[in-house]
Amino acid sequence: MLSQTMQAALNEQINKEFYSAYLYLSMAAYFEALNMPGSAKWMKAQHDEEHLHAMKFFDYVTDRDGRVQLQAIAQPTVEFAAPVAAWEQVLEHERGVSASIYKLYELAVKEGDYATQALLTWFITEQVEEEKNATLMAERFKQAGTNVATLLLFDGHFTKRGE
Ligand code: MG
Repeated sequence: MLSQTMQAALNEQINKEFYSAYLYLSMAAYFEALNMPGSAKWMKAQHDEEHLHAMKFFDYVTDRDGRVQLQAIAQPTVEFAAPVAAWEQVLEHERGVSASIYKLYELAVKEGDYATQALLTWFITEQVEEEKNATLMAERFKQAGTNVATLLLFDGHFTKRGE
């Protein structure tokens, strides 16, 4: 069974993953408004992935006879100065998520909770991929700057995600 401290920390992480999903959905809305369907599609796929992350923690808590207690999800950012600003926020956000996964892992080690460590190993690997992708996107959009032709070229490339 999960300790009370671990249960509370996992419930907090569930909230963070749902917030991530909400943030990416907000970014999808921003890119739709800019008529950049490729980026919007990417963000929607990201939303779905974050929802799966939240549910992975959700199911884990219940599998360990814990109690999931959902909390309010904060309002995400709705406006961005430019496409690059949204991608930079993705990178910053994912770095924050990694830090919070590492904190959970430290707690699991401290408590000798091996099952939670095993779950978190999956997330640690996943975060390497998330940060790698976000770094690449932020860098590409920074290089594109305000060049509309390049922005649209990148956007067209993203429509291929998941196909
Ligand atoms: Mg996540």
